[in-house]
Amino acid sequence: KTQVSFSGATRVMTISNQKGGVGKTTTTVNIAAALASLGGQVLVIDLDPQGNASTALGIPHSAETPSVYDVLIEDVALADVIQPSPENERLLCAPSTIHLAGAEIELVTQVAREQRLKTALAEYLKHRDEPLDFVLIDCPPSLGLLTINAFTAATEVFLPIQCEYYALEGLSQLLGNVQLIQKHLNPRLRLTTILLTMFDARTRLSQQVADEVRGHFSGEVLETVIPRSVRVSEAPSFGKTVISYDGNSAGAIAYREAALEIVRRGVAGAEEGRA
Ligand code: ADP
Ligand code: MG
Repeated sequence: KTQVSFSGATRVMTISNQKGGVGKTTTTVNIAAALASLGGQVLVIDLDPQGNASTALGIPHSAETPSVYDVLIEDVALADVIQPSPENERLLCAPSTIHLAGAEIELVTQVAREQRLKTALAEYLKHRDEPLDFVLIDCPPSLGLLTINAFTAATEVFLPIQCEYYALEGLSQLLGNVQLIQKHLNPRLRLTTILLTMFDARTRLSQQVADEVRGHFSGEVLETVIPRSVRVSEAPSFGKTVISYDGNSAGAIAYREAALEIVRRGVAGAEEGRA
């Protein structure tokens, strides 16, 4: 088993890309599971009303389940909605429910509406007995108040890029938004980590996209790329990450490699990131 030393500090990452279907949720849950399998204590916060991250982690999230909605709107403590995943006790999830769809509107009239997740997370981290190593926030594709809450609570932006046509479309908009958040809400926010996903070694296009992204962002792109793999896409239907569903598959190996890189690069690597 690979030995990994976690830094002792909690790294809070928001997994963001303003396009849907690029692998945000898949990356969130599999990197989280990989980090937990390496010995880390990891919390996934599911901020997408669709609740795909909760599903993939095998966490019940029916309408009655206490969820991130209650945290953001009803002042419920984050500790009271967090559930351990069935596959690993070090892997925790604050689930989303369908109510979160309304939170986008309901937040508008709340006090400190952009900081509610940040405040709830700080309170939770302060009262935990054992420190968390990573918090990964799965965002919806839109730039609404939910995503702004994620950007405000995080210090690192983690950008998955799909190795497909139009991969770089919308990226300058995302970077512009990160700059706006830095300026007005969260000066510590940095784009630290880019992961190329759904890489298809058989197509020239995948390689072209990968080369182009590496040309634009040399320091932030992880060396590991995630291959397109059926095992990765079918794992959620079993309420599992690919790490537990098929730990020897190419997708699981790649996600563990990527997680290892993230830990090894550490926050020092993160500091070099630009936004
Ligand atoms: P997002 O959260 O950005 O909308 P998802 O993570 O839900 O994107 O991924 C979109 C679709 O692509 C899903 O059906 C998912 O199963 C599939 N997918 C993601 N990564 C891979 C991969 N490495 N190989 C095959 N399918 C993938
Ligand atoms: Mg998603």
